[in-house]
Amino acid sequence: MLQKSSPLVPSIYPGSVYKFTDLDTYEESILNPGEEFIYARDGHPNAIITSNEITKLHNANWGMVTGSGMGAISAVLIGILSSGARIIAGKRLYGRTLKILEKDFTRFGVQCDIVDECNLTELKSALSTPASILFIETITNPTLRVPNLKEISILTNKNKTLLVVDNTFATPLLCKPLEHGADIVIESLTKIMCGHSDVTMGYVGGKQGPQENIIKAVKDIGFHASPFDCWLISRSLETLELRLNQSCKNASELAYWLKLNHPGIRVDFPGLENHEDFNISKEQFGNFPGHLIAIEIPKGREGVNRFLRTAKNIPFCPSLGHSSTSVSHSWSTSHRQLTSEQKLNLKITEGLLRVSVGHEGIEKIIESFDDGIKAAQSI
Ligand code: PLP
Repeated sequence: MLQKSSPLVPSIYPGSVYKFTDLDTYEESILNPGEEFIYARDGHPNAIITSNEITKLHNANWGMVTGSGMGAISAVLIGILSSGARIIAGKRLYGRTLKILEKDFTRFGVQCDIVDECNLTELKSALSTPASILFIETITNPTLRVPNLKEISILTNKNKTLLVVDNTFATPLLCKPLEHGADIVIESLTKIMCGHSDVTMGYVGGKQGPQENIIKAVKDIGFHASPFDCWLISRSLETLELRLNQSCKNASELAYWLKLNHPGIRVDFPGLENHEDFNISKEQFGNFPGHLIAIEIPKGREGVNRFLRTAKNIPFCPSLGHSSTSVSHSWSTSHRQLTSEQKLNLKITEGLLRVSVGHEGIEKIIESFDDGIKAAQSI
């Protein structure tokens, strides 16, 4: 039957298993993996559609979606590391990533050394001893430091260490780490790539390297993503550029407004000239270094409570990338497991709020911040 019309958008394929006409066709599918679907943990149409879209955004040669950002990270670690291997990790990594590296993978005989990812001398020295992986983030949480990917990849290349970059805070639209020399890129799609706080998913991709082992880890250990979640992410990708551009513009405006109107308040934003990584940030991202800023609310924890109760429309939630602005308190959420001393070493104070700036009207955002900060100051 001739089809004169077809759905404009991809369909959802919820099936967990596929049927075969006989043993020979099944055998053919086993021998030619990737051409047919057999079992959804190993692959399904929606995972392929969404993976291909993100792989294209990264100019990668291979890529795969996973059921969470942590799933993507774990698949990389399981796929590459063996007992006795050494991994070097940036000291500003997402708390849960650091936790699995320092507490879980070490149980299987992996050695983990922590370095300052923004200090090239320290990195050079750490890399002078063989290591399988250097794991860093494009923009770190919550102080928004920016490691120099190009310089770092020269070092990892020279030392035959795989450079793995978690690009969640940047997204492929702001930065394509593979083009700066990284070997493997990871995204938590749960954040602004989704943009609506209703999907938990991840992505891992690369140019070349040990992709077979990583792909096997996703399939064998069950890090796959569900068809409906993949479909939602594909839908979110249609508006990613619009949403991200507006959120980045708003973040920049909010940072400059804070500097001008509340000059006593610490504002961490790589787009401000006084930020330690202003120059690298400009080189790597151009004029808009992301939709995140960090601000220090006066009067510590009580000031933060006052801010949260007063700043209308700015919810406190321990994530980022929602369509509208929200704040997170790194001290009690992402970095909760660290000692006070460790947090202060990372410049995480009890008054620090990480702001995920959304794409609603900037006037509304500024008004809420002004109210919240004045309420904290009045204590
Ligand atoms: N990487 C970064 C930088 C994150 O901030 C997070 C979560 O907050 C993750 C990875 C983990 O992603 P997910 O929550 O999708 O597992």
